[in-house]
Amino acid sequence: MENLILNKEKLPELISKLSSEHILYGPIEEDGLSQFKQIKNHNELNLDYLLTRVSPKSIIFKQTETLFTFKPGRKGSVKSSNIKVEKSVVFAIRPCDARSFSILDPVFNGDFEDPFYISKRDNTILIGLTCNKPDSNCFCTSFNDSPGSTENVDLLFTDLDDKYFVEVVTEKGKNLLEAVKDLFNNSSKKEESSKNDIERHAIESISRKMNLDDIVLKLDKLFDHELWYNTALKCVSCGICTYLCPTCHCFDMQDESTLREGARIRVWDSCMYPEYTLHASGHNPRDARMSRVRNRVYHKFNYFPKNAGVTACTGCGRCIDYCPVNIDIIDLIEKVEVVSNE
Ligand code: SF4
Ligand code: SF4
Repeated sequence: MENLILNKEKLPELISKLSSEHILYGPIEEDGLSQFKQIKNHNELNLDYLLTRVSPKSIIFKQTETLFTFKPGRKGSVKSSNIKVEKSVVFAIRPCDARSFSILDPVFNGDFEDPFYISKRDNTILIGLTCNKPDSNCFCTSFNDSPGSTENVDLLFTDLDDKYFVEVVTEKGKNLLEAVKDLFNNSSKKEESSKNDIERHAIESISRKMNLDDIVLKLDKLFDHELWYNTALKCVSCGICTYLCPTCHCFDMQDESTLREGARIRVWDSCMYPEYTLHASGHNPRDARMSRVRNRVYHKFNYFPKNAGVTACTGCGRCIDYCPVNIDIIDLIEKVEVVSNE
C-alpha cells in the first residue's frame, strides 16, 4: 500500500482526532513505570519508551475480565457479561508486541473461539512504532522478525527526527486515515530509504541471537535432562517471566461472591506457580519447580510450534530484563544446544 509522511507538529492533532472517535491507548510514564493506558491528549504520551513493562496484550486479553454475574438462592439467576464493541486504537505498539498476536490468535480464535478476545481484537487498530534503537536484550531477529516489521500492524510509524514515515499496511489502517488525510503528505524516495536505513541499522545493532535450528527435535530428546533441575535451583517461582511475556496466555477462573451476588472472573495465571496444576484431588503433576521451569521452555519452543506452527516467543527480552535471579531464556536455549551435542 502507500507510504506517507506526518510532520511531528501535526501529531497533537492526529492524537486528538483519534481519541475523539476511538478509545485510544498509548505508552505513558506513570510513577517511573512505562505502560499502555487510555489517553486523550498527546502530552500524555511517552514516545521515548522502548518496551512497557507489561506488554500491551493486556488491552485485548485483559488481566481480569468478568465473564458473568450471578445471584444465588431459589430465585437465583445468571447474567452474561455484555461484550462491549468499543472501537479502539493502540498507538505506538512495538513490532515484537504486535507479533505476539500471531501466538495469541490461534489460542483465542482457533479451535475454541473466545468472544471476549475476538471482539476486542477485531475492533482494535494497531499502529506500530519502529524500534530505532533496540535494547541489549532484544532478539526479535532470531524469529525472522525485525524492529521495523509490519506483522499484525495496520499502520507503521518510523521516527525520522522531525517527521514520521508512515506505512499503510492494511485496509483498516487506510480507512482510519481517511478522516485525517489532510494531516499527511506523500513520502519521497529519500524518506523511504531513510526508513530502510534505520531498520537496517536497528537489525545490525541486535547482538543477542537465539539458535532455533531443530529446537523442537532437540527438546524432544531432553525431557529428563538435568539441565531443568539445575536451572530450577535458581528459580523462585515468582511468575514475573510469564506475567510480563506478550505471548503467555494462561488464565484461571475465580468466583467472587457475597451472600447476595457474585461474579465469575477470568484472571491471568502463571504456569510457574505451584498451584497452577493442582487438581481438586490434591494431586499435582507439576509440583516440582523443575517441572514448571521445563514446562515454560517446552510450551514456548516445543509444544506450541507443534500445535500452532509458531514459536511462542517474540524476542522482546522482558523475561531476561526482569527475572529477579537472572534466568536468561537465550542462555537456556544455548545450553539446550550444548547438551544436545554431548
Ligand atoms: S519468552 Fe521472554 S523474550 Fe520471549 S516473548 Fe516472552 S518475555 Fe519476551
Ligand atoms: S522470573 Fe525468573 S525466578 Fe521468576 S518464575 Fe520466571 S524464571 Fe523463575
